[in-house]
Amino acid sequence: MRNLGPIAIVSAMQEELSTLIELMSGEPTTVGSRVFWRAKWFGHDVVAVLSGIGKVAAATTVATLIERFGVQEVLFSGVAGGLGDGVKVGDVVVAKELLQHDFDASPLFPRYEIPLYGRSHFVSSHLQHQWLVQAAKACLPGLSKAMQGEHLLGSLGVNANEIVVHEGLVVSGDQFISSQAQREDLRARLPLALAAEMEGASVAQVCFDFKVPFAAVRVISDRADDQASVNFAQFIEEVAAPYGAHVIQSYLQTRPTDE
Ligand code: SAH
Repeated sequence: MRNLGPIAIVSAMQEELSTLIELMSGEPTTVGSRVFWRAKWFGHDVVAVLSGIGKVAAATTVATLIERFGVQEVLFSGVAGGLGDGVKVGDVVVAKELLQHDFDASPLFPRYEIPLYGRSHFVSSHLQHQWLVQAAKACLPGLSKAMQGEHLLGSLGVNANEIVVHEGLVVSGDQFISSQAQREDLRARLPLALAAEMEGASVAQVCFDFKVPFAAVRVISDRADDQASVNFAQFIEEVAAPYGAHVIQSYLQTRPTDE
C-alpha cells in the first residue's frame, strides 16, 4: 500500500479558514510566516493553512505544503467574484480549469500563456473535482439551516433554495475586481470565465509542477463590480465561511480513504 501524505486545505483569508480550524482542532506548526494546522479528521490526515491573499502568497504556501508536509492532494476553499451570466451571489463555483488573467508575455508568447509550460489553462484533477462537486451539492439542502447568514442572504436577494453549483473556468490575478469597467474588460477578454479570484490558478500551477492532485471551490461573495466590497466582510463571515467548512467536511466524510 502506498504511503500517502495528508490532504491539504488552503484558504486565503482568516475568516474563510477559522471555522474549519476550530472544528478540526489541529496542532499548529509554523514554517516561514505560515501556520500549518495538522489533525486527523474523518479518518484522513489533514493539514489546513491560511495562504494569505494573492498568487505569490498562495504559491509559496502550496510549495511548502508539498515539500515540507508531503501532501497528497490540495483543496482550495474560498470566495470569488461572479463573472458568468448566471453566476450570482451565494452560488458556488467548482473550478474545472484555471487561468491567470493578468499574465501577459505577449508578443513573445500568446496572452495568458505561461512561458515554457506551453499552456495558459491548468485543469483540476478529475476525481478530486468530482468529489468536491458532490460535496458542494450534498450541502445545499441543509444550507439555510447551517448558516447564521440567512438574514444577510435574504437582504442580498439570495434564496437558499436557488443556489446553483457551477463548474468551469475560474480566473485569477493580483487584483480585487471591484468596478464595472474591470468586470466588463474581463468578460470581454475571457467570456468563458465564471468567477474571478486571486489565488487559484497559481495553486493549480504549483500542483501541476509537482503532479499533486488539486481542486478548488469558491462561494460567490460579489459580482466583481462597483458593489463588490459593500457586503464583502459580512458575507464571508456569515455565509461563505460556514458554507465552505460544510463543503470541506462533507468532502472528507465521503472521500474514500484509500485513493
Ligand atoms: N478588502 C478585502 C480584500 C480581500 S481580497 C479584505 O478585507 O481583506 C479578496 C479575496 O477574496 C481574495 O482572496 C480573492 O481570492 C477573493 N475575491 C472575492 N471577490 C473577488 C473579486 N471580485 N476579485 C478578486 N478576488 C476576489
